[in-house]
Formats: sequence, structure tokens, C-alpha cells
Amino acid sequence: MLFTPALPTSAVLASTVASFLSCFYRVAVYGVAFIELRFKDSRFTALFFSELHFTGMSYWVEFMTRWLREAEPRAPAKLAGMDYAGRLRRLQDQFVAQDLDALLVTHQPNIRYLTGFTGSAAALLVHGAGAVMFTDGRYRTQAQAEVRNARIVIGKLPPLLEGGSWLAQHRSKLSGRGTLALGMEAESLTLGSRRRLVSSLGKGFRLKEAPQLIERLRMIKDEDEVRLMRAAAELGASLFQIACATLRPGVTENAVAAGMEYEARRKGAEGMAFSTIIASGKRSALVHGRASCEIIPQRGFVVCDFGVILAGYCSDRTRSVHVGSASREAKSFYAAVLEAQLAGLAAVRPGARAAEVDAEARKSLRKSKLGRYFSHSTGHGVGLEIHEAPRLAAGETEMLRPGMVITVEPGAYVPDKWGVRIEDTVLVTEDGCEVLSPSDKQLIVL
Ligand code: ZN
Ligand code: ZN
Repeated sequence: MLFTPALPTSAVLASTVASFLSCFYRVAVYGVAFIELRFKDSRFTALFFSELHFTGMSYWVEFMTRWLREAEPRAPAKLAGMDYAGRLRRLQDQFVAQDLDALLVTHQPNIRYLTGFTGSAAALLVHGAGAVMFTDGRYRTQAQAEVRNARIVIGKLPPLLEGGSWLAQHRSKLSGRGTLALGMEAESLTLGSRRRLVSSLGKGFRLKEAPQLIERLRMIKDEDEVRLMRAAAELGASLFQIACATLRPGVTENAVAAGMEYEARRKGAEGMAFSTIIASGKRSALVHGRASCEIIPQRGFVVCDFGVILAGYCSDRTRSVHVGSASREAKSFYAAVLEAQLAGLAAVRPGARAAEVDAEARKSLRKSKLGRYFSHSTGHGVGLEIHEAPRLAAGETEMLRPGMVITVEPGAYVPDKWGVRIEDTVLVTEDGCEVLSPSDKQLIVL
């Protein structure tokens, strides 16, 4: 049984005052600090920001406090239970039709998808009867703990070349014919690495640029993946509360992003899925306006686009808010983008072409005379990577199918004035789509 001695009230008071003093010192010097207080079983964490303001010859430091949470952070989700054997089999089943004896996988998210390996240096050789993963000594322990359904070879050469020399030795066993048809992932192989691979292979190989076989498998998420993507979407969505609590005129965009990113880590995220976008005032017209040291102005839109990586899976969401009172023009601009986003969502159903979703969102914005300000595609697939197949853009003929996870994110950007984007990540279902972590999307004025 644990026994916590009761401290005299004066001692508790003294220690609290001391920790606050040290916290304010850190805020003044470093710009940000956290203080943690425990009371019985609850834990409270305060996040302090400081903002330096200059006016004429004088300056002052403004302190902002945000009580972050009362509960213990949840345990990070695990990758356990993935159907690695099934994935490998579905890939191998395509070899005959593709005229391949083996495929050399070099795109790291594809290796993770097939084996569970989370390291950053590996090559995976998939042949008709199995798979061999090549990595280096840094990943010996990690590979042994993580890799499923593949033999592990720890080499001294870079993984790709290690794979090449292994293939040179085992070619005759892997191919019944004279030459071995080896597929390569053209999108992830540089000219230099291809040249080095060719010299390590020697004679007896026919190299082929393979179509994106694994990316196509990854488009349809299985049950385990959907579970993780839901958890990632939920965690990602919760960061918007931090944005709303810290966003106000005079605060830097970076300070808002910092609070969100701190909270993401506390809740178990491995990291952010991309650089957090906090684009305020005229910067809201930048489609990818990463958070900067710009100060949020008194009035205007702020585009917040943010996502986390949880157990390998990404979340992606955008909300646009308005600081200061919104003019009638600003309100109708926002309403037009929201209408386009809802039109896009309504078009997501199995059997629809990816281009149709894009066309519906675009048509809606054209109706509001904002078509020319919509300068990007309507959405993209999300999963182990933040941008993956399918693309929701004009000319994309991919048919939507249940299990796909895609974003719907139209926006309108008027240069040097303002911009708005609204984005949800959705799961394509049997009869339409389900927004992951839905929320109210009426304009928030802060
Ligand atoms: Zn997106
Ligand atoms: Zn986004």
C-alpha cells in the first residue's frame, strides 16, 4: 500500500510559490514553460507563453496561461494485430499478371505496411515464396522486435546494395527461367541508387518499373487500420480546442502551433503529420502558410490545418476561424467555402469517381463566384502517409470504394486579402461516407 505523508499547509504553499516563481523566470527567458500540480489523483498542467511587445522605447512581456488537462495522458495506440501475412499474399498474387519474379520494395511506408518495421533504412525483397528485409546494425534489435513475415538480414552495406548482392547469390533459386524479372519502385529509387543496384546485381536480371502495387493495396484500409485512423482523427481534432483557447490578436502563429504540438505529444502522438499551418490575416491566402513568427492581427481569418501521427497513421483536418468581428463579406465568403465542402462530402460514395467529388466542390464555389480562387485539388487519401492515393482532382478516374480514407478540403484564397479552407477526413462506407471525428463547422469568431 502506498503511503503519502501529509505535508504541513505552509510547506505546500511555499513549494507552490517557489515553483511559480521558477516558472515565470523560464517564461521570461525562454518564452514558454509548463508547470505541473498534483492534487490527490488529479494532475493539472499549465502552459505559459510569453509574448514580447515593443512600443516606442519600451517593451513588456505578456504572460498567458492555459490549463491543459486534468487526466493522465492516454497510452499510445499499438500497431499489434495487423494482417501482415494477408497483405504479403495479396501482393504476391499479382506477380504472375505483372510478369514479375520478385519486387524490391524501397519506399519505407510500404515496408512498414508489409512487415511492421518502423525504422528509416531498409529494403524489402518480396519473392514468390516469401520476403527478406535488409537493414543495418542500428536496427538489429528493433527489426527483430517489429518485423513480421520476413526474414531479416543485417548487413554492412546500405540496405539496397545488401539486397542486390543477396539477390545475385540467390537468383537461380528464385527464378525458374534464365533471367529474374525484378520489379522496382520507380518513385522511391534515385538514378544513383538504381545505378549502384545494377552493378551489385550483376548479370541475369531484367529490371522492371513496377506499377504502384502496394500503394493500391494501401488505398483500402482494413479494420485495424480504420480503428487507428479513428483514434488519430480524434486526437488530431482535439488540438483545435487548444488553438481556440490560445488564438487571439497579439499572439504569434508559432505560439498557437506550439501549444497544439505539445498537447499532441502528451496524448501519445509520435509527431505531427506535417508542419502545422496557422496562417493569419493576409497569410490565410497562402495555401500552405506554415505557422510563423507573424503576430495574429486584430481582425481577419486564421486558417488552422493540423494533423498528428498516431501509431503510424496520420490525421488531417482544417478549420478556419475569424478573430475580431467578421464583416458580412467575410461571413458570406466562409459560408460559400462551407457549402462547397458539404457539396464535396455529399458526393463521396462507393462507385463515384474521385474527379466527381472535386467537380461538385468546384461547381459550388463557381456558383458563389469564387471558383477562380480555389487553386488546389479537393482532397487526397490519408493513411501511413499524409498524402497517398487516391487523389481527388479533375481527371482522376479512380473509383471510390468502401474502406478508403480521404479528405475533402476545398478552399478559396484571395491574394493579399484572405483565405478560408475547411477540411474533414472521411471513411468511404457501403452507402456514402462517415466523417471521422465530426464537429460543428459554423464560423467561429474569437
Ligand atoms: Zn489534407
Ligand atoms: Zn490538411
